[in-house]
Amino acid sequence: MPLKRPVVLITGGSRGIGAAVAQLAAARGYDVAINFKSDREAAERVLEVCRASGAAAIAAQGDMALEEDVARMFDEAEAALGRVSHVVNNAGITGRSGRLDAAATETIRSCVDINVLGALWVAREAARRLSTRNGGAGGSIVNISSAAARLGSANEYVWYAASKGAIDSLTIGLSQELAGDGVRVNAVSPGITRTDIHERSTGDAGRMERFRSKIPLNRIGEPEEIAEAVLFLMSDAASYITGANIPVSGGR
Ligand code: NAP
Repeated sequence: MPLKRPVVLITGGSRGIGAAVAQLAAARGYDVAINFKSDREAAERVLEVCRASGAAAIAAQGDMALEEDVARMFDEAEAALGRVSHVVNNAGITGRSGRLDAAATETIRSCVDINVLGALWVAREAARRLSTRNGGAGGSIVNISSAAARLGSANEYVWYAASKGAIDSLTIGLSQELAGDGVRVNAVSPGITRTDIHERSTGDAGRMERFRSKIPLNRIGEPEEIAEAVLFLMSDAASYITGANIPVSGGR
């Protein structure tokens, strides 16, 4: 009988960093479940690439800010692919950029709902299903934080930076909570990476290029470069690593 492939569930896997993680995971021998919120066509394109690598791949629609969608997404992934062994907590938004004193309540609330509460719902569901204490088979969780948690994002979106600070705390605490339960928990903190988030989420088309001169490696990161760090942390090569947070930010 062929060996059962590990199964990774990636929130916000239809575009950007999540899509790059899905495609690299498929190429490295994982079956893949991606979640998306609204762009089904983008999700279908990612699935095609994953399947071309020989992976079983499915997409589960769901808003990660909603607890019930999170549980349903895990159910759909497990019904189609079997037990989930790895979770990448990636879905996130910034909201339109600006100073905090000018930010709309809804901008701040939706960012915190998705980036903080959503990440907690996903992490909680992962802990319930992966933890050997709860009858799971162990595995690993990788949270996508941001260099913003360190830098603070003044005049851009301090609420987003604060939401990623929460991800850093979640990573430390949950890694300790699950260390005896067969689950490693780590984070990757991307710097400025070439995805739609800059234009679609912030409404600022020139943002990426304006920051180039502040990046020691003097270029924008590619989603595939973030995916490499995520795949490393998921893999057995990282078997003694938990509670770590790898900056992938070109030295910034
Ligand atoms: P992106 O290109 O805008 O893609 C966002 C993904 O998340 C899409 O698949 C989107 O699906 C999904 N999504 C958005 N809201 C969702 C929700 N409520 N529920 C479920 N899925 C949702 O973003 P990205 O740049 O790849 O960012 C991915 C992660 O990396 C985020 O956590 C972000 O904060 C972090 N990050 C990015 C950068 C960067 O420079 N790009 C830097 C540091 C950290 P739909 O299209 O269907 O809405």
